[in-house]
Amino acid sequence: MNFRKPKGTKDILPKEIYKWHFVEKTIREVTDLFNFSEIRTPTFEYTDLFKRGVGAETDIVGKEMYTFLDKNGDSLTLKPEGTAPVMRAFLESGIYGEQNLHKLYYLTGMFRYEKPQAGRYREHTQFGGEILGSNSIYTDVELILMAKEVYNRCGINNFKIKLNSIGKPEERRNYIKILKDYLRDHLNELSEESKKRYESNTLRVLDSKDSGDRQITDSAPKIIDHMGTESRQRFHDVVNELTRLGAECEIDFRIVRGLDYYTDTTFEFVSSDLGSQDALGGGGRYDGLIEQLGGKPCPGVGFGSGIERIIIVAEKNGFTFGEPGNPLVYFIALNEEARKVAFAAALSLRQNNISSETDLLGRSFKAQMRDANKMGVKYVYIIGEDEIKKGMGILKNMSDSSQIEVSFDKIRENIV
Ligand code: AMP
Repeated sequence: MNFRKPKGTKDILPKEIYKWHFVEKTIREVTDLFNFSEIRTPTFEYTDLFKRGVGAETDIVGKEMYTFLDKNGDSLTLKPEGTAPVMRAFLESGIYGEQNLHKLYYLTGMFRYEKPQAGRYREHTQFGGEILGSNSIYTDVELILMAKEVYNRCGINNFKIKLNSIGKPEERRNYIKILKDYLRDHLNELSEESKKRYESNTLRVLDSKDSGDRQITDSAPKIIDHMGTESRQRFHDVVNELTRLGAECEIDFRIVRGLDYYTDTTFEFVSSDLGSQDALGGGGRYDGLIEQLGGKPCPGVGFGSGIERIIIVAEKNGFTFGEPGNPLVYFIALNEEARKVAFAAALSLRQNNISSETDLLGRSFKAQMRDANKMGVKYVYIIGEDEIKKGMGILKNMSDSSQIEVSFDKIRENIV
């Protein structure tokens, strides 16, 4: 029987894992620089958390969740997004009350039953950040700048930051009525998907990709014109500060995000290198979410970005992700006794943080040399019958083919 990976998943093979390591290392470096702490939550949660925290009318909850009953009959869901689980852990653990401000990040697998296509998988890995406890505009600004720094360090500079505000909940509710009034006259012209969304998640009609829908919504009333002065000022302050700090952004009324919990700022990083799934990352404020999950009111802002898409865009921009790691020394052993010496010497180098390799297939000298060349090692150390007698091996520098005799216990001192 031939097994295949499940639809919409991928294997990350050894020949490309170094790209992942680079991006993951970059994320850890940048989150350290911005003083974010990592939080890890379970792979699955009780289904109700997402229903409550994300919203039953959203695509994620309505259509895309991997939900199952466990043997106890409890309904569990593989996490489709990061914010609700982080909020749940934040409340449940009590770290909530320990200090006023929390800066958290995660790097974890996400699961969504979506139609697979380029840049869209059923399991993807997401890096996300959350700042909790303050509604200062600088929390929005800092989060966006942190994501930007990660992208820049991965060689990605040609993305757009699209910014919008969906106001306070009451402003939003009021605006949805105005939007519905406008759309009602065009209902027959809307795509099937937008007709459904008109009732269930009206704001999302604005982010439809259908060109007919877009023509209609081009002239729709804009939320920015229906917000109070405070919300409008807040939005302008965010835009101004981002611009001042080198993160040029574009105001785009279509960035409404799909999730129920957003308030005020919403944003997306968009790259034309991604095709139709053009979002590199996105997020927004969610000042009412914690309360919705049973906590005391606590403002927050968060974002998420798929690692797969970061790698796709970085590659399209010719980024090299550093070099794949090669061993420094390859031990070539010409007989059984030499193999024992080689194995011990390699272990000693490894214990001293020098990566090394031995031949585990019992191959000929030529085959071992070929193997060493293929691995791109800097040195080979050759041990044959004569060498065993002398207690000395031949250390060959592969870059200039120079070689010297070096005793078994002095290898480390002779490599640079
Ligand atoms: P969202 O919460 O849908 O805005 O997702 C946040 C980010 O995660 C997106 O901007 C993408 O970079 C990434 N992402 C979301 N869904 C997928 C998916 N199905 N496959 C790959 N990446 C995804």
